[in-house]
Amino acid sequence: MGHPVLRQTARKLTREDLANPEIRALIHDMRENMQQYGGIGLAAPQIGESVQLAVIELEAGKNRYGSEDALPYTVFINPEFEVIDVTEQGFWEGCLSVPGLRGYVERPRHIRVKYWDENGVEKTLEAKNFLATVVQHELDHLFGHLYVDRMKDTRLLSFQEEFQQFYGQAPTLDEDNV
Ligand code: ZN
Repeated sequence: MGHPVLRQTARKLTREDLANPEIRALIHDMRENMQQYGGIGLAAPQIGESVQLAVIELEAGKNRYGSEDALPYTVFINPEFEVIDVTEQGFWEGCLSVPGLRGYVERPRHIRVKYWDENGVEKTLEAKNFLATVVQHELDHLFGHLYVDRMKDTRLLSFQEEFQQFYGQAPTLDEDNV
């Protein structure tokens, strides 16, 4: 947090970009980077690349909200989403770009995302519940937003240690950061 790249709207990738060996290498490295940081999602601006590329991998059983929220490793390029159900749900979010903190954020609970996969094929994903929050958190990174911008009550911002001490049973993005 504080690096200007995290506050920019990242540029869209073109189909020509997807054939570029450097971009292909970046896409290929995203999963490794995400796993290295212990996250369930990662957006390219978080590693200093201002392009509209994010990845999410949510293994079944890795969160307490059940397998319906699971998502196999997915690459999102040039994503756009629309809200299907505006009803908001709250989670305590963490972020690799805001280390050591947790903040309570409410977001719509059901969205539809249109994006390209790593081969430039157009795809659509409907995300609900926990997955809807994870997707919105990652997409925010591509448009210069951090979860702290989405907080309605900054009193609900906590250091990780105090969070575990005082809010340990609250719905969170688990041990993982995104
Ligand atoms: Zn994040």
